[in-house]
Amino acid sequence: MSEDAPLGLFGGTFDPVHVGHLRLAEEARESLQLGRVRWIPAGRPWHRDELRTDAAHRLEMVRRAVASNPLFEVDDIEARSGRPGYTVETVSSLRAVLGSQRPLVLLLGADAFSRLHTWQRWRELLDLVHVGLATRAGQAADAAVLNDALAAELAARRRDSADALRAAPGGAIVCFDMTPLAISATDLRARLARGASCRYLAPDAVLDYISHHRLY
Ligand code: ATP
Repeated sequence: MSEDAPLGLFGGTFDPVHVGHLRLAEEARESLQLGRVRWIPAGRPWHRDELRTDAAHRLEMVRRAVASNPLFEVDDIEARSGRPGYTVETVSSLRAVLGSQRPLVLLLGADAFSRLHTWQRWRELLDLVHVGLATRAGQAADAAVLNDALAAELAARRRDSADALRAAPGGAIVCFDMTPLAISATDLRARLARGASCRYLAPDAVLDYISHHRLY
């Protein structure tokens, strides 16, 4: 895959990273023909008020989770910043380094997409990058449940083929089917808090790290 192939950008709190995240990134890479996927653990996002775990820990867990995949990389641009980060600012910084022509594809689960209209300068963001939209267990990209302005953007920008992602640096929305995995970090935190097993819900390297540092 050439260096010019679309680059996937996968942000999240990853508190902790789990198999649902890994399959989303892997299936997006395959379905959308991305060269690589860059994981970007959030620092202190403005739209999440209670973050339980230090960014340094969340960053390290993501590093361990993706270590064996040469097509995954980790960017600490948000995690190392002490202040709340806006995705549009992160993407603008990446654009300055990667150039204005490189196709960038922001990967979002359906639940994250449905809140996009609450993000800072979200329409500008949709011009700057493409969106790769995964459907999550039981939650389709259903225009009926979307905010009107967001549904209108989805209708205008939606393209059926991943070819659209190579045709321009940004601006399109391409949906891809993802194996439904009803796994959430919220559920993992609850299991860990009550001492229940999370084996096979997250990589062993992540669970070892959690246990060693007594997180959650
Ligand atoms: P929490 O339960 O704390 O809200 P989460 O498991 O949803 O966390 P995030 O870090 O908030 O994880 O999610 C990062 C991205 O991964 C979001 O775009 C979200 O939609 C997506 N995602 C998370 N879990 C899944 C899953 N099981 N299937 C598909 N997408 C997922």
